[in-house]
Amino acid sequence: MPLVREARAARGKRVRNTVAAAAVLALTAAGCASGGAGQTHAGHGSRPATPNAPGPQAAPDPHLGRGGPDPTAPGGGPSAGASAAPTPRTTAPQAPAPRTSASPSPSTQAPAPRTTSPSQAPVSQGVVRHTAEAGRNVALTFDDGPSPVWTPKVLALLDQYDVKATFCIVGEQAREYPNLVRRIVAKGHRLCDHTETHDEKLARLPAADVRREIGSARDAILAAVPGAEIPWFRAPGGGWSTTIKQTAASYGMKPLDWSVDSRDWERGGVDHILATIKSELRPGGVVLMHDAGGDRSQSVAVLARLLPWLVNQGYSFDFPA
Ligand SMILES: [Zn+2]
Repeated sequence: MPLVREARAARGKRVRNTVAAAAVLALTAAGCASGGAGQTHAGHGSRPATPNAPGPQAAPDPHLGRGGPDPTAPGGGPSAGASAAPTPRTTAPQAPAPRTSASPSPSTQAPAPRTTSPSQAPVSQGVVRHTAEAGRNVALTFDDGPSPVWTPKVLALLDQYDVKATFCIVGEQAREYPNLVRRIVAKGHRLCDHTETHDEKLARLPAADVRREIGSARDAILAAVPGAEIPWFRAPGGGWSTTIKQTAASYGMKPLDWSVDSRDWERGGVDHILATIKSELRPGGVVLMHDAGGDRSQSVAVLARLLPWLVNQGYSFDFPA
């Protein structure tokens, strides 16, 4: 594919997955809770309201259940659809640009009783919805895997563009496909704990169950990749609670949300999903996609077109804060 080759060549030096500033920025990220673009990944229409979430957009859509049938249509054509002139690069990665922590979020400042085995340094409980570095960056995140069908396709596309992403791993999947977790890490991608069973009612579970869901997935990941870094935890459906955030923090994991919900799980068509991402994405955005949990052929087709578009738009690829 000439297009791919061209894009790769053009991209070349652009790809930058620096996380050097992550530690510094994590602190400022703390004040950046809520207010993200529609957290519509919600579970079955009953997402518990986050106290500090303005939530202008309703969250009517259930996160389609994981474990649906597998591949059918390839979906979507190969055209990049990005004929726009490449925008000039404005990235200035050196300067830790001032962050606009618009929304004061008192509730996220609640003291965290660090009860058990916090071997890591304390981390913020502020929900992360932006990239580690300021500038024209984007962080791609893939949830619910690994899947033996879809994760390899996603990895291959990311490889083509030398892009590093974040994979939010479900414990049950990691136990079944530990080799895929190893492949993800070997490729330089990062890991996020996404619970053991993907229970979207996590926020309503007793604290002990929350701990088990989070801890078991973590154990599964570490069994696959001993010593793996797991900097983030993502709640299924984006359903956060103080208990969840505190528990994640006790393991040294920051709560990871998103600013762009691709809604790829709705399988509304490749063009539609792509248009959603393009319209919602701003520099510093964290994009939610899925590499498992059902037929993800549309997600893969979207990614094949999204990557060259992002490159054309002058985006660099980063990890979440
Ligand atoms: Zn999920």
